[in-house]
Amino acid sequence: MRQGGAETPRAVDTRHIPYTPRMHLSDIIRAPKVVLHDHLDGGLRPATIIELAREVGYRGLPTHDPAALATWFRQAADSGSLERYLETFAHTCAVMQTREALERIAAECAEDLAADGVVYAEVRYAPEQHQERGLSLDQVVEAVNAGLREGERRTGGRIVVRALLTGMRHTDRSLEIAELTVAHRDRGVAGFDIAGGEIGNPPARHLPAFRYLKRHNCHFTIHAGEAVGAESIHEAVQVCGAERIGHGVRITDDIQVHDDGTATLGHLAAYVRDNRITLEVCPTSNLQTGAAKSYDTHPIDLLRRLGFRVTLNTDNRLVSGTTMSQEFQHMADAFGYGAEVFQELTVAAAESAFLSLPERQRLIDEVIRPGYGLE
Ligand SMILES: [Zn+2]
Repeated sequence: MRQGGAETPRAVDTRHIPYTPRMHLSDIIRAPKVVLHDHLDGGLRPATIIELAREVGYRGLPTHDPAALATWFRQAADSGSLERYLETFAHTCAVMQTREALERIAAECAEDLAADGVVYAEVRYAPEQHQERGLSLDQVVEAVNAGLREGERRTGGRIVVRALLTGMRHTDRSLEIAELTVAHRDRGVAGFDIAGGEIGNPPARHLPAFRYLKRHNCHFTIHAGEAVGAESIHEAVQVCGAERIGHGVRITDDIQVHDDGTATLGHLAAYVRDNRITLEVCPTSNLQTGAAKSYDTHPIDLLRRLGFRVTLNTDNRLVSGTTMSQEFQHMADAFGYGAEVFQELTVAAAESAFLSLPERQRLIDEVIRPGYGLE
Protein backbone atom coordinates (compact mmCIF):
# COMPACT_ATOMS: atom_id res chain seq x y z
CA MET A 1 0.00 0.00 0.00
CA ARG A 2 1.34 3.45 -0.91
CA GLN A 3 1.99 5.78 1.97
CA GLY A 4 1.39 9.49 1.88
CA GLY A 5 -1.76 11.62 1.63
CA ALA A 6 -4.57 10.91 4.04
CA GLU A 7 -6.82 9.83 1.18
CA THR A 8 -4.45 7.23 -0.28
CA PRO A 9 -5.68 4.25 1.81
CA ARG A 10 -9.22 4.82 0.54
CA ALA A 11 -8.21 4.94 -3.16
CA VAL A 12 -9.34 1.76 -4.90
CA ASP A 13 -8.91 0.34 -8.39
CA THR A 14 -12.38 -0.08 -9.93
CA ARG A 15 -11.38 -1.55 -13.32
CA HIS A 16 -13.52 -4.34 -14.69
CA ILE A 17 -12.70 -7.99 -14.11
CA PRO A 18 -14.39 -10.69 -16.19
CA TYR A 19 -17.30 -12.48 -14.54
CA THR A 20 -17.94 -16.20 -14.94
CA PRO A 21 -19.68 -18.51 -15.42
CA ARG A 22 -22.74 -17.06 -17.18
CA MET A 23 -26.17 -18.33 -16.13
CA HIS A 24 -29.39 -18.57 -18.15
CA LEU A 25 -32.65 -17.41 -16.57
CA SER A 26 -33.75 -21.01 -15.91
CA ASP A 27 -30.46 -21.62 -14.01
CA ILE A 28 -30.93 -18.36 -12.12
CA ILE A 29 -34.44 -19.39 -11.05
CA ARG A 30 -33.10 -22.74 -9.80
CA ALA A 31 -30.17 -21.18 -7.91
CA PRO A 32 -30.71 -20.43 -4.22
CA LYS A 33 -31.40 -16.78 -3.51
CA VAL A 34 -31.87 -14.64 -0.40
CA VAL A 35 -34.00 -11.49 -0.29
CA LEU A 36 -33.72 -9.07 2.63
CA HIS A 37 -35.81 -6.18 1.28
CA ASP A 38 -39.27 -7.13 0.03
CA HIS A 39 -42.49 -5.34 1.02
CA LEU A 40 -45.51 -7.55 1.68
CA ASP A 41 -47.92 -4.84 0.46
CA GLY A 42 -45.91 -4.39 -2.75
CA GLY A 43 -45.91 -8.03 -3.82
CA LEU A 44 -49.51 -9.31 -3.95
CA ARG A 45 -50.81 -11.52 -6.77
CA PRO A 46 -53.09 -9.42 -9.02
CA ALA A 47 -55.78 -12.11 -9.00
CA THR A 48 -55.74 -12.13 -5.21
CA ILE A 49 -56.22 -8.35 -5.05
CA ILE A 50 -59.26 -8.66 -7.32
CA GLU A 51 -60.80 -11.55 -5.35
CA LEU A 52 -60.24 -9.86 -2.01
CA ALA A 53 -61.60 -6.54 -3.30
CA ARG A 54 -64.85 -8.36 -4.22
CA GLU A 55 -65.00 -10.08 -0.82
CA VAL A 56 -64.50 -6.91 1.23
CA GLY A 57 -66.50 -4.62 -1.06
CA TYR A 58 -63.57 -2.43 -2.12
CA ARG A 59 -64.57 -0.60 -5.32
CA GLY A 60 -61.45 1.47 -5.99
CA LEU A 61 -59.54 -0.86 -8.36
CA PRO A 62 -58.80 0.53 -11.83
CA THR A 63 -59.61 -2.85 -13.49
CA HIS A 64 -60.80 -6.34 -12.54
CA ASP A 65 -58.67 -8.21 -15.06
CA PRO A 66 -55.54 -9.70 -13.41
CA ALA A 67 -53.19 -9.13 -16.37
CA ALA A 68 -54.44 -5.59 -16.92
CA LEU A 69 -54.11 -4.87 -13.21
CA ALA A 70 -50.48 -6.08 -13.19
CA THR A 71 -49.77 -3.79 -16.15
CA TRP A 72 -51.54 -0.90 -14.42
CA PHE A 73 -49.37 -1.32 -11.31
CA ARG A 74 -46.18 -1.38 -13.32
CA GLN A 75 -47.18 1.66 -15.38
CA ALA A 76 -48.19 3.62 -12.29
CA ALA A 77 -44.82 2.84 -10.73
CA ASP A 78 -42.98 3.76 -13.95
CA SER A 79 -44.92 6.99 -14.42
CA GLY A 80 -42.51 9.12 -12.41
CA SER A 81 -45.53 10.50 -10.53
CA LEU A 82 -45.26 10.00 -6.80
CA GLU A 83 -49.04 10.28 -6.47
CA ARG A 84 -49.64 7.41 -8.88
CA TYR A 85 -46.87 5.39 -7.25
CA LEU A 86 -48.45 5.82 -3.81
CA GLU A 87 -51.91 5.03 -5.20
CA THR A 88 -50.67 1.49 -5.92
CA PHE A 89 -50.21 0.90 -2.19
CA ALA A 90 -53.61 2.39 -1.42
CA HIS A 91 -55.13 -0.45 -3.51
CA THR A 92 -53.07 -3.22 -1.94
CA CYS A 93 -53.51 -1.97 1.63
CA ALA A 94 -57.27 -1.62 1.05
CA VAL A 95 -57.55 -5.41 0.71
CA MET A 96 -55.15 -6.18 3.59
CA GLN A 97 -57.42 -5.31 6.51
CA THR A 98 -58.67 -8.68 7.77
CA ARG A 99 -56.99 -11.64 9.42
CA GLU A 100 -58.00 -13.95 6.54
CA ALA A 101 -56.68 -11.58 3.86
CA LEU A 102 -53.37 -11.05 5.64
CA GLU A 103 -52.91 -14.79 6.16
CA ARG A 104 -53.65 -15.54 2.54
CA ILE A 105 -51.36 -12.79 1.20
CA ALA A 106 -48.49 -13.83 3.48
CA ALA A 107 -48.85 -17.51 2.53
CA GLU A 108 -48.88 -16.65 -1.18
CA CYS A 109 -45.86 -14.40 -0.70
CA ALA A 110 -43.87 -17.33 0.73
CA GLU A 111 -45.06 -19.60 -2.10
CA ASP A 112 -44.18 -17.08 -4.82
CA LEU A 113 -40.72 -16.41 -3.40
CA ALA A 114 -40.03 -20.15 -3.09
CA ALA A 115 -41.19 -20.75 -6.68
CA ASP A 116 -38.58 -18.19 -7.72
CA GLY A 117 -35.82 -20.10 -5.89
CA VAL A 118 -35.66 -17.88 -2.83
CA VAL A 119 -34.51 -19.99 0.15
CA TYR A 120 -34.57 -17.29 2.81
CA ALA A 121 -36.59 -14.07 2.85
CA GLU A 122 -37.20 -11.16 5.19
CA VAL A 123 -40.55 -9.66 4.27
CA ARG A 124 -41.51 -6.30 5.72
CA TYR A 125 -44.77 -4.48 6.29
CA ALA A 126 -46.16 -1.67 8.45
CA PRO A 127 -48.67 -3.15 10.95
CA GLU A 128 -50.29 0.27 11.50
CA GLN A 129 -51.49 0.25 7.88
CA HIS A 130 -53.69 -2.81 8.46
CA GLN A 131 -55.97 -1.55 11.22
CA GLU A 132 -58.78 0.07 9.18
CA ARG A 133 -61.22 -2.73 10.07
CA GLY A 134 -60.36 -2.96 13.73
CA LEU A 135 -57.44 -5.40 13.95
CA SER A 136 -55.06 -4.74 16.82
CA LEU A 137 -51.34 -4.50 16.05
CA ASP A 138 -50.81 -7.90 17.69
CA GLN A 139 -53.58 -9.43 15.56
CA VAL A 140 -51.98 -8.05 12.38
CA VAL A 141 -48.61 -9.58 13.28
CA GLU A 142 -50.18 -12.89 14.30
CA ALA A 143 -52.12 -13.10 11.03
CA VAL A 144 -49.06 -12.42 8.87
CA ASN A 145 -46.96 -14.88 10.88
CA ALA A 146 -49.63 -17.57 10.53
CA GLY A 147 -49.70 -16.98 6.78
CA LEU A 148 -45.93 -17.14 6.44
CA ARG A 149 -45.82 -20.43 8.39
CA GLU A 150 -48.59 -21.81 6.15
CA GLY A 151 -46.66 -20.71 3.05
CA GLU A 152 -43.46 -22.36 4.30
CA ARG A 153 -45.41 -25.55 4.97
CA ARG A 154 -46.97 -25.57 1.48
CA THR A 155 -43.52 -25.33 -0.10
CA GLY A 156 -42.35 -28.34 1.88
CA GLY A 157 -39.85 -26.27 3.81
CA ARG A 158 -37.99 -25.03 0.72
CA ILE A 159 -38.08 -21.51 2.12
CA VAL A 160 -37.74 -19.83 5.51
CA VAL A 161 -39.45 -16.44 5.82
CA ARG A 162 -39.10 -13.94 8.65
CA ALA A 163 -41.00 -10.68 9.05
CA LEU A 164 -39.62 -7.20 9.62
CA LEU A 165 -42.03 -4.71 11.19
CA THR A 166 -41.93 -1.29 9.58
CA GLY A 167 -42.59 2.01 11.29
CA MET A 168 -43.68 4.84 9.00
CA ARG A 169 -41.51 7.96 8.87
CA HIS A 170 -44.42 10.38 8.68
CA THR A 171 -46.37 9.03 11.67
CA ASP A 172 -45.53 9.03 15.37
CA ARG A 173 -46.02 5.33 16.05
CA SER A 174 -42.45 4.10 15.57
CA LEU A 175 -41.83 3.45 19.28
CA GLU A 176 -45.04 1.44 19.47
CA ILE A 177 -43.93 -0.61 16.43
CA ALA A 178 -40.46 -1.07 17.95
CA GLU A 179 -42.13 -2.45 21.10
CA LEU A 180 -44.28 -4.72 18.95
CA THR A 181 -41.13 -5.99 17.21
CA VAL A 182 -39.46 -6.88 20.50
CA ALA A 183 -42.66 -8.51 21.77
CA HIS A 184 -42.89 -10.78 18.70
CA ARG A 185 -39.23 -11.56 18.08
CA ASP A 186 -38.28 -15.23 18.20
CA ARG A 187 -41.86 -15.85 17.01
CA GLY A 188 -41.42 -15.06 13.33
CA VAL A 189 -40.35 -11.41 13.57
CA ALA A 190 -36.66 -10.80 12.93
CA GLY A 191 -36.35 -7.03 13.17
CA PHE A 192 -37.56 -3.50 12.56
CA ASP A 193 -37.44 -1.03 9.66
CA ILE A 194 -38.38 2.59 8.99
CA ALA A 195 -39.94 3.43 5.61
CA GLY A 196 -42.00 6.09 3.87
CA GLY A 197 -41.17 9.45 2.28
CA GLU A 198 -37.55 10.27 3.07
CA ILE A 199 -37.72 13.98 2.24
CA GLY A 200 -38.55 16.05 5.33
CA ASN A 201 -38.69 12.95 7.55
CA PRO A 202 -35.12 12.25 8.74
CA PRO A 203 -34.65 8.95 10.61
CA ALA A 204 -33.44 10.72 13.78
CA ARG A 205 -37.07 11.83 14.33
CA HIS A 206 -37.57 8.24 15.47
CA LEU A 207 -34.65 8.03 17.90
CA PRO A 208 -36.79 6.78 20.81
CA ALA A 209 -37.68 3.73 18.71
CA PHE A 210 -34.07 3.02 17.81
CA ARG A 211 -32.92 3.52 21.40
CA TYR A 212 -35.61 1.09 22.57
CA LEU A 213 -34.46 -1.50 20.02
CA LYS A 214 -30.80 -1.08 21.04
CA ARG A 215 -31.75 -1.43 24.70
CA HIS A 216 -33.40 -4.73 23.82
CA ASN A 217 -30.64 -5.95 21.49
CA CYS A 218 -33.04 -6.03 18.56
CA HIS A 219 -32.04 -5.86 14.88
CA PHE A 220 -33.09 -3.01 12.61
CA THR A 221 -32.58 -1.60 9.14
CA ILE A 222 -33.47 1.88 7.88
CA HIS A 223 -34.55 3.05 4.42
CA ALA A 224 -31.99 5.77 3.62
CA GLY A 225 -29.98 7.18 0.75
CA GLU A 226 -32.71 6.70 -1.85
CA ALA A 227 -34.46 10.07 -2.24
CA VAL A 228 -32.03 11.91 0.04
CA GLY A 229 -28.24 11.73 -0.25
CA ALA A 230 -25.34 10.75 1.94
CA GLU A 231 -26.48 12.83 4.92
CA SER A 232 -29.48 10.54 5.31
CA ILE A 233 -27.19 7.50 5.35
CA HIS A 234 -24.93 9.22 7.88
CA GLU A 235 -27.87 9.85 10.18
CA ALA A 236 -29.17 6.29 9.80
CA VAL A 237 -25.79 4.74 10.57
CA GLN A 238 -24.17 7.13 13.03
CA VAL A 239 -27.11 8.70 14.84
CA CYS A 240 -29.66 5.88 14.73
CA GLY A 241 -27.30 2.87 14.62
CA ALA A 242 -28.73 0.95 11.64
CA GLU A 243 -27.14 -2.44 10.95
CA ARG A 244 -28.32 -2.38 7.33
CA ILE A 245 -29.44 0.36 4.97
CA GLY A 246 -32.49 0.01 2.73
CA HIS A 247 -31.21 1.13 -0.70
CA GLY A 248 -28.24 3.27 0.38
CA VAL A 249 -27.19 3.74 -3.25
CA ARG A 250 -26.58 7.44 -2.73
CA ILE A 251 -23.51 6.56 -0.70
CA THR A 252 -21.95 7.28 -4.10
CA ASP A 253 -22.33 11.00 -3.20
CA ASP A 254 -19.32 10.34 -0.94
CA ILE A 255 -17.26 8.49 -3.55
CA GLN A 256 -15.14 10.15 -6.21
CA VAL A 257 -14.40 8.08 -9.30
CA HIS A 258 -11.34 9.28 -11.22
CA ASP A 259 -10.65 9.12 -14.96
CA ASP A 260 -8.02 6.39 -14.50
CA GLY A 261 -10.58 4.02 -12.99
CA THR A 262 -9.57 4.51 -9.39
CA ALA A 263 -11.96 5.86 -6.77
CA THR A 264 -11.53 7.74 -3.54
CA LEU A 265 -13.93 7.16 -0.67
CA GLY A 266 -14.95 9.91 1.72
CA HIS A 267 -14.98 9.12 5.42
CA LEU A 268 -18.67 8.12 5.51
CA ALA A 269 -18.36 5.79 2.51
CA ALA A 270 -15.20 4.30 4.02
CA TYR A 271 -16.97 3.80 7.35
CA VAL A 272 -19.93 2.03 5.73
CA ARG A 273 -17.66 -0.21 3.67
CA ASP A 274 -15.09 -0.93 6.37
CA ASN A 275 -17.75 -1.80 8.96
CA ARG A 276 -19.48 -4.15 6.51
CA ILE A 277 -22.79 -2.27 6.79
CA THR A 278 -25.09 -4.01 4.34
CA LEU A 279 -26.72 -2.11 1.50
CA GLU A 280 -30.09 -3.59 0.48
CA VAL A 281 -29.95 -2.61 -3.18
CA CYS A 282 -33.11 -2.75 -5.34
CA PRO A 283 -32.15 -1.81 -8.93
CA THR A 284 -35.56 -1.87 -10.65
CA SER A 285 -37.16 0.13 -7.84
CA ASN A 286 -34.31 2.67 -8.06
CA LEU A 287 -35.02 3.16 -11.77
CA GLN A 288 -38.68 3.82 -11.02
CA THR A 289 -38.07 6.36 -8.28
CA GLY A 290 -35.23 8.06 -10.14
CA ALA A 291 -32.52 7.00 -7.65
CA ALA A 292 -30.69 5.46 -10.66
CA LYS A 293 -30.89 6.18 -14.39
CA SER A 294 -30.38 2.74 -15.99
CA TYR A 295 -29.33 -0.80 -15.12
CA ASP A 296 -26.01 -0.29 -16.96
CA THR A 297 -25.12 2.75 -14.89
CA HIS A 298 -26.58 1.52 -11.60
CA PRO A 299 -24.01 2.01 -8.81
CA ILE A 300 -24.35 -1.58 -7.52
CA ASP A 301 -21.40 -2.76 -9.61
CA LEU A 302 -19.13 0.09 -8.54
CA LEU A 303 -20.06 -0.47 -4.89
CA ARG A 304 -19.45 -4.20 -5.16
CA ARG A 305 -16.05 -3.74 -6.71
CA LEU A 306 -15.13 -1.21 -4.05
CA GLY A 307 -15.78 -3.88 -1.44
CA PHE A 308 -19.11 -2.73 0.00
CA ARG A 309 -21.35 -5.44 1.38
CA VAL A 310 -23.97 -5.27 -1.35
CA THR A 311 -27.12 -7.39 -1.61
CA LEU A 312 -29.65 -7.60 -4.42
CA ASN A 313 -33.37 -7.23 -3.64
CA THR A 314 -36.84 -6.79 -5.14
CA ASP A 315 -38.40 -4.04 -2.98
CA ASN A 316 -41.93 -4.44 -4.47
CA ARG A 317 -42.44 -7.42 -6.75
CA LEU A 318 -45.88 -6.51 -8.10
CA VAL A 319 -45.41 -2.76 -8.18
CA SER A 320 -42.00 -3.02 -9.85
CA GLY A 321 -43.04 -5.99 -12.00
CA THR A 322 -40.02 -7.96 -10.86
CA THR A 323 -38.73 -11.07 -9.08
CA MET A 324 -35.38 -11.94 -7.54
CA SER A 325 -34.49 -13.93 -10.66
CA GLN A 326 -35.33 -10.97 -12.89
CA GLU A 327 -33.15 -8.67 -10.78
CA PHE A 328 -30.31 -11.19 -11.20
CA GLN A 329 -31.00 -11.31 -14.93
CA HIS A 330 -30.85 -7.51 -15.19
CA MET A 331 -27.45 -7.58 -13.48
CA ALA A 332 -26.25 -10.37 -15.78
CA ASP A 333 -27.28 -8.27 -18.80
CA ALA A 334 -25.84 -5.01 -17.47
CA PHE A 335 -22.56 -6.20 -15.98
CA GLY A 336 -22.05 -9.76 -17.21
CA TYR A 337 -22.57 -11.22 -13.75
CA GLY A 338 -22.40 -15.00 -13.58
CA ALA A 339 -22.66 -17.70 -10.94
CA GLU A 340 -19.62 -16.53 -8.96
CA VAL A 341 -21.00 -13.03 -8.42
CA PHE A 342 -24.53 -14.30 -7.75
CA GLN A 343 -23.19 -16.67 -5.12
CA GLU A 344 -21.17 -13.83 -3.61
CA LEU A 345 -24.26 -11.55 -3.45
CA THR A 346 -26.34 -14.38 -1.98
CA VAL A 347 -23.75 -15.23 0.66
CA ALA A 348 -23.51 -11.52 1.54
CA ALA A 349 -27.29 -11.44 2.00
CA ALA A 350 -27.24 -14.57 4.17
CA GLU A 351 -24.41 -13.10 6.28
CA SER A 352 -26.52 -9.95 6.73
CA ALA A 353 -29.74 -11.78 7.63
CA PHE A 354 -31.30 -11.06 11.01
CA LEU A 355 -30.79 -14.71 11.96
CA SER A 356 -28.51 -16.28 14.55
CA LEU A 357 -24.94 -17.00 13.47
CA PRO A 358 -25.44 -20.81 13.39
CA GLU A 359 -28.59 -20.34 11.25
CA ARG A 360 -26.71 -18.09 8.81
CA GLN A 361 -23.81 -20.53 8.61
CA ARG A 362 -26.15 -23.44 7.99
CA LEU A 363 -27.91 -21.49 5.23
CA ILE A 364 -24.60 -20.70 3.52
CA ASP A 365 -22.89 -24.10 3.96
CA GLU A 366 -25.87 -26.42 3.45
CA VAL A 367 -28.10 -24.54 1.01
CA ILE A 368 -26.38 -21.70 -0.86
CA ARG A 369 -22.91 -23.07 -1.65
CA PRO A 370 -24.16 -26.55 -2.65
CA GLY A 371 -26.85 -24.86 -4.76
CA TYR A 372 -24.30 -22.97 -6.85
CA GLY A 373 -21.94 -25.97 -6.91
CA LEU A 374 -18.88 -23.86 -7.73
CA GLU A 375 -16.34 -25.51 -5.45
ZN1 LIG B 1 -38.34 -0.49 0.42
